[in-house]
This record gives sequence, C-alpha cells and structure tokens, in this order.
Amino acid sequence: MSFVEENDNSLYKAILDSLFVGICIVDRRETILYWNTGASRLTGFCDGDVLGKEHGAQLIARKDLRGAPQPNGPWPLSETLADSVTRTEKLFLLHKAGHWVALQVIAQALQDETGEMIGVLETFYNIGPELTANAEVERLKQLSMKCPLLGIGNRRYGELMLHVKFEEARRVGLKLGLLYMDVDHFKQINDAHGHEAGDQVLRTLADTLAISMRAGDVLARWGGEEFVAILPDISQEQLEQFAERIRQRVAACTIPLGEHNLSVTISIGAIVAELGHSVEDALLLADSALYQCKAQGRNRVIMAEAATD
Ligand code: GH3
Ligand code: MG
Ligand code: MG
Repeated sequence: MSFVEENDNSLYKAILDSLFVGICIVDRRETILYWNTGASRLTGFCDGDVLGKEHGAQLIARKDLRGAPQPNGPWPLSETLADSVTRTEKLFLLHKAGHWVALQVIAQALQDETGEMIGVLETFYNIGPELTANAEVERLKQLSMKCPLLGIGNRRYGELMLHVKFEEARRVGLKLGLLYMDVDHFKQINDAHGHEAGDQVLRTLADTLAISMRAGDVLARWGGEEFVAILPDISQEQLEQFAERIRQRVAACTIPLGEHNLSVTISIGAIVAELGHSVEDALLLADSALYQCKAQGRNRVIMAEAATD
C-alpha cells in the first residue's frame, strides 16, 4: 500500500489546505463542492459561507483591474463551465472584510474517466504585490522621462524618441522634420524678473509649443531653455511653415507677471532629415542652423542644408 493510499483523503485535504493558493471546485450547477483554507484566507469567506451553495461564487463581488464593476459578469469558472476552455484572468475581488484583493484566477474544466465535464477547478492567488510593483516601475519610468517643471518629456525622452522615430522613418522611407528651439536672451528675463518668473515663462512656452504639435509629433525639453520637436512625414516647405507659425505664436504670447506683461521670442534651427542622416547628424545640422539664427539677430527660423554627403 502506498503512502498516499494509507493516508487517504485526509492527506489530500491537508495538502490542499496548506497551499497558499485558493482552490474552489464547483459541479456543473456551479454548486461549490470544495473551498480550501487558501480560498478562505484570500476572500475572507469561509467554507461555511459558500459550500453547497448553487452559484456560490456569485456571492462574492468582483471588478476588473481598471476598477469597472462587473456586477453580472460571469466568473471565469462560469465561462469555463459553458465551454470547457481553460482561462486565466486578473481581477479584483471584494474581501468579506470590505477591501478589494487583486487576484490571478485560473479556471480549468474537470472531466470524469469518460471525458465528460463534471465541473470546474478554479485556483487563484494574490497578485497585489506584483501589481503594486508594476505600477511603481511605470511611475518611475514616467518620472525619469518627464520634466517636472514643464510637464513635457525631458532630454532622455527626446533622445529615446529621436531614435525610435528615426528608425521608424528609415523603415517606411519617410522624411523626418526636426526643430531645435532656444529662447532668445532668456538670461535677461531671469535677471530682470527673477528665476520664478523665468520658470513661469518656460511653462507658458512649453504649453504653447505642446498645443502646436500634430498627432504623432514629439516635443521634449532638451536643456534649460532649449526644446526639440520631431515631426514625422513632413516636407521642407511644410516644416518651414510650421516652424514659422510656432515662432510667431510664441512671439505673440504675453505672460502676465504682476504689473508687467512678459513676452519672449525663440530662434529655431530646422532640418528635414534625409534617410542617410543619423540622429547625431540631424541634431548637429539643426543646432548649427540655430546658431546662425542667433548670429543673424534671433527671433527667426533657419532651415539647415540637408546634404548627406
Ligand atoms: P541666447 O539668445 O543667446 O540664447 O541668450 P540666452 O540668455 O537665452 O542664453 P544663455 O544660454 O546664456 O542663458 C540661458 C539661461 O537660461 C541661463 C539659465 O539661468 C536659464 N535657465 C536654464 N534653465 C532654467 C530654468 O529651469 N528656469 C529658469 N528660470 N531659468 C533657466
Ligand atoms: Mg540655450
Ligand atoms: Mg537662449
């Protein structure tokens, strides 16, 4: 006689109850036949609450991970009862004590020796810590790519997107517009009105630039008062018009500051990158066009020569 046979059902039950996962077995009428200690621990419902109850699992409220309630939606086990398909789902379940618990739920059909379905085995376990960790990583990712002062992407984001967009443009054979923008005489704003006023000017400027972008364009703060914009699928003429429009829009902006109305201008070096350009080539050319803007008096747009060889 084997060890298992000697110890019979009580051994199986002890093993199942010692697992940290919740286990629920229902028959074809969705009557709960088995509810282990793990299930009681995870849900707060003990076997006395649910055992022998038809549609017993429906007593426990749940919602999807985005928080939308599913008051009448089926449990994975009900769906598996209907089609015998194994399914895995993540959901929130309302613990008997009143708080939500994040669970991974796996429902599998149970068959007898003839292959006929006799019920469903549902196992579930707590994924709260995993969800919290993922959300935290996502939050940190966002934080490390976002400029906290201006609420737009930072240089790391700009560099990442430049490589992404250049690769994309190369793959589909599209031209890519690049704008390198710098505020004119920004130091004077700080010197005359203080750093706080300078920050306010930068915020208004970033908002003005951001609302000027088209869907699919990218805007990033490149450094102090410098910004880079990436504009996929644009011609030389369109890019020049676009840059000119932005320049005028910024110049027309007034930023109220106490009794003063501040305004600033920007200089823009622009280039339509050719397929042969690397990100670095394009940035260098746009930067030297920007330098020419400054040399020629600022508040202007200069298109860089796009020669590749
Ligand atoms: P130019 O027309 O040649 O670009 O002149 P500029 O004064 O804009 O150029 P410069 O690079 O000399 O000065 C940039 C100034 O931007 C200096 C720096 O103190 C200021 N600055 C950089 N980042 C910030 C910021 O986050 N807030 C504020 N208020 N000022 C900043
Ligand atoms: Mg600068
Ligand atoms: Mg400047």
